[in-house]
Amino acid sequence: MPPLDQDLPSALEARGVSRRDFLEFCSLMLATLALPTRYLGKVVSALSQPQRPVLVWMEFQDCAGNTESMLRSSHPSVAEVVLDLLSWEYHETIMAGAGKAAETTLQNVVKNHKGKYIAVVEGAIPTADDGVYCTIAGRTALDIAREVCSNSAANIAVGACAWDGGLVRANPNPTGALGLEEAVPGVPVVNLGGCPHNVANTAAVLVHYLTFHEMPALDPYNRPLFAYGQIIHDQCQRRAHYDAGRFVEEWGDEGSRKGWCLYKMGCKGPEATYNCPVVRWNDGTSWPVQSGHGCIACAAHRFWDWSSPFYKKLPNVPGFGVDVTAEEVGWGVVGVVAGVTAAHAVGTVIRAHKEASEGSKESGSKPESKSASPEA
Ligand code: SF4
Ligand code: SF4
Repeated sequence: MPPLDQDLPSALEARGVSRRDFLEFCSLMLATLALPTRYLGKVVSALSQPQRPVLVWMEFQDCAGNTESMLRSSHPSVAEVVLDLLSWEYHETIMAGAGKAAETTLQNVVKNHKGKYIAVVEGAIPTADDGVYCTIAGRTALDIAREVCSNSAANIAVGACAWDGGLVRANPNPTGALGLEEAVPGVPVVNLGGCPHNVANTAAVLVHYLTFHEMPALDPYNRPLFAYGQIIHDQCQRRAHYDAGRFVEEWGDEGSRKGWCLYKMGCKGPEATYNCPVVRWNDGTSWPVQSGHGCIACAAHRFWDWSSPFYKKLPNVPGFGVDVTAEEVGWGVVGVVAGVTAAHAVGTVIRAHKEASEGSKESGSKPESKSASPEA
């Protein structure tokens, strides 16, 4: 880690990340936060300050997938900037220190930076039997979380397990695992659901905090609206095929090869919110639906419970896409629909109609009943 009094651009340059890369990162953060470009100077100025806040990252009942997600970013500017953005004083997986020295470091942060540091939690927190099912240096995760998260300036829960207990909490949950805000009620938490979290969103939250000295606007689940405010279905590149009634019917079929809609293969995109289609993975290269697999709604509340079986079709998705075949999507239908649906849907229907008239193979079926997505 660079010295605390070294400004970020200098620290990055020492690691081979140029000023241009730094500015590109700032622009990427603005875009992720959906902020106008006029804020670029403010972001650059805030991130260029020599004094960087301290961050501690605690792992409890987890698979370390969120840490992996952060570290596996191959693009140097995002990974390097995230690591250098703050002074990372404690992180079990990546810190050089171990044993008592490491735990002393954490204690020193709580004591010397009280009310000023950022605490990140990865993994669920077991609460059964006084929390004995996860202990670190003789202390329970519950005890550590209570102390560290109630003395911090801000708390961020990364990944499904830290948010709502995730897979660890799914039935039968013998350890009584809970997410941070349930295990330690009363502490302010920003939840970055997802399995794993997307590092671009985590970086954007940190950048927002450093720039504006407050967390971004949150939804009722305390998730940032910029990342969780839009339905995946409305951002999906396969949406035109949905509106046209062109669906993949089985893996490897013609529709699968042509990139048609994955609704019938169990895609939960119509009822899940996240910016996954826009931010994507592997430095914006692709995302699961683009690669050919339906969304399992990993960023939805308690998704392990409500989203499974993952390959079962969602019942009764609002809209008309699954009610008609592409042949039935004529101009008359478009005229009716235009009055009652969003402009996006109309546009995609028109595009899809033109494509459909070129002779594609279509299919469609009636939905069965209304589902109860926690996102809806
Ligand atoms: S159902 Fe899934 S694959 Fe189809 S358009 Fe919606 S999000 Fe995309
Ligand atoms: S496509 Fe859906 S399940 Fe897959 S990573 Fe994106 S939000 Fe999560």
